[in-house]
Amino acid sequence: MRVFEKNSNIFNLLSEGVSEGIIVVNTSQTIVASNSVAEGMFGFKKHELIGESLDILIPKKHHSTHRSHVKGFIQKNKKRQIKHDSHLFGVRKDGQQFPVEIGLNPFHIYGATYVMALIIDITERKRKEGELGLWTRIFDESLNEMYIFDAETFKFKNANKEALRNIGYTLNELRTMTPVAIKPELNKLAFRKLIQPLVKDEMGKVDFETTHKRKDGSSYPVEVHLQLSKIGEQKSFIAIILDITERKNYTETLEKKVEERTLQLTEALAVEKELNELKTRFLSLVSHEFKTPLSSILTSITLLGKYTRTEQQEKRDKHVATIKNKVKYLDTILTDFLSVERLESGKVTYAIESFPLSKVINEVVYDSNMLLKNGQRIQYPDNIDELMIQFDEKTLELVLSNLIHNAIKYSLEDSIIDLQVTVEKEQIVLKIIDEGIGIPQADQKHIFDRYFRAKNALLTQGTGIGLNIAKQHLENLGASLDFLSEENKGSTFFVRIPIERNTN
Ligand code: ADP
Repeated sequence: MRVFEKNSNIFNLLSEGVSEGIIVVNTSQTIVASNSVAEGMFGFKKHELIGESLDILIPKKHHSTHRSHVKGFIQKNKKRQIKHDSHLFGVRKDGQQFPVEIGLNPFHIYGATYVMALIIDITERKRKEGELGLWTRIFDESLNEMYIFDAETFKFKNANKEALRNIGYTLNELRTMTPVAIKPELNKLAFRKLIQPLVKDEMGKVDFETTHKRKDGSSYPVEVHLQLSKIGEQKSFIAIILDITERKNYTETLEKKVEERTLQLTEALAVEKELNELKTRFLSLVSHEFKTPLSSILTSITLLGKYTRTEQQEKRDKHVATIKNKVKYLDTILTDFLSVERLESGKVTYAIESFPLSKVINEVVYDSNMLLKNGQRIQYPDNIDELMIQFDEKTLELVLSNLIHNAIKYSLEDSIIDLQVTVEKEQIVLKIIDEGIGIPQADQKHIFDRYFRAKNALLTQGTGIGLNIAKQHLENLGASLDFLSEENKGSTFFVRIPIERNTN
């Protein structure tokens, strides 16, 4: 101790110039010298430590181990550098403990051995490390993917666990890559453009959606939140990535659903519109098409009432025929109209049965005879007595009566309406041939359109419904309807019914 008293000026001079705390102990671990940094660090006054046992600066529970440790250390007489990974603690005069780093230097002077301890209070550093550790953990364990890449080179510097897990690259692999390498939708130029507002400091954060491509080639939609960090020396971009696969899937299903519903709604609206149109048509049909036959029925009935004498039977017959004829016509257009409605609303049902073709033809021809004009004649097919057909009977009746009525309507007096039936390999063909006004070439392509009437037919009563529904019904049943026609020469309508129905 005397040594240090003697040389205290020199010691003071030297020891006060350093930032570490300095404590010198002798071999019995008594403090022989200390600088003011050490005194302050441990909460003692000037020179208060001199003569005290080193123990007062060491937490109680370490006293014995520390003592033997120092002893052994003095015997070995080796320097010990300050170790950064040590977990040493000092204890203050008030009993408070604090983390320290200590370097030990044994030396001999005037025949005695001493140890000089250089002590650094690392409370602040530990606190910072702790804080950093916390942030590192938050970064690493976040379930959002996080990437950090250099603002100059764009190379990845770091990525958290979740990012590495999802993207499939190791950190080392990523460090050789730039964000563009995992963003197939963006090239370098587009990416630079995107981050421009950050570089120019116009915005604090840039958000965008894109796709990330994994190492295995698969990709997933992401939402990117990008910011430029200016903490520290180097600037880095920090990207927080949200994998939005599920959100996208949800949005997609939602969009699909909306699309489907919109379609359904549009269709429903179209049907509604069509039905409305149908109603309007029906009303105009009633007012136009019903008026004429109804007034001629009325006239005939009025006249019938006047022909009371026996010899006026012929006149009565004529008016009864007119009434029948007109009622028949009204019945036909009403049937047609109802057929449209049923076809429209999908309520048509068919009953496929086997029946002799002659049965339907006979009925239709019989009814049509009433409509014949002067000198008109229906040429009956002569080879159908044995011919059975498998089809919907009502439909065939409706089609044939429409076609024969048209042939009568659109032909002049004294003409023949020829019905022919041919049995071919795969189909039965019914031909309705007239010598009438024909269909102008320009109108032919529209002839099956609903409500369409050729320009040369406008003086004749009609609705433009018959051919349309006849064709629809036939096609519903796998049959077909077509025609050949020349204006002022005549028309032939062909009904083709596939024969496979008839064989089994
Ligand atoms: P409607 O006869 O009530 O007008 P259709 O649908 O039966 O309606 O026929 C549509 C149109 O086709 C007719 O208006 C007419 O212009 C033309 N058409 C149909 N059949 C014949 C035919 N045999 N000869 C000439 N034109 C015809």
